[in-house]
Amino acid sequence: MSAPGAAAAARELAPQVTLLARFADTAPLRETIEGLAQQAPFRHLVVPRGGRMSVAMTNCGTWGWHSDRRGYRYVDVDPETGRPWPAIPPHFLELAARAAAAGGFPGYLPDACLVNRYAVGAQMGAHRDYDELDMSHPIVSVSIGLPATFLWHGTRRTDPPLTVLLEDGDVLVWGGVARAGYHAVRKL
Ligand code: FE
Repeated sequence: MSAPGAAAAARELAPQVTLLARFADTAPLRETIEGLAQQAPFRHLVVPRGGRMSVAMTNCGTWGWHSDRRGYRYVDVDPETGRPWPAIPPHFLELAARAAAAGGFPGYLPDACLVNRYAVGAQMGAHRDYDELDMSHPIVSVSIGLPATFLWHGTRRTDPPLTVLLEDGDVLVWGGVARAGYHAVRKL
């Protein structure tokens, strides 16, 4: 077993969808997230149709993803606290840039970082990340904690998915032709 971040193998699962196995050292990330959650608590957002998401979320960055009865959008003030989201910690930015480059997207500097907490029983239905204004930037997804099954549907929501087991430290990068791909997380 190799140390986290040590020249992890990059595996292209689909065009411009790259799995970087054991790429991230997650202990410092966990610790930082605990601090972030004290400033911007995890919450179960309401979706436009009225239900609550099983996944708990918070954000850091200039912009944070939000959902309520009015729809999905990015907001620069946390509606829960009335304060701006905490800044993205420098080691998150460094990891994101390094992972994006390894996935074929050099020069990545994110201004939004959504943190999704899956407790046992939580899941995420098939969706695409489509509320961002500039689709030229990739999505960098870092897995921390329990293994989960990620489903990559790709172009159509109804396409049979690739199933990908994501484990602690795995990083998934998608962008370019895959940027608007449908994806989901099976119930944990
Ligand atoms: Fe997503």
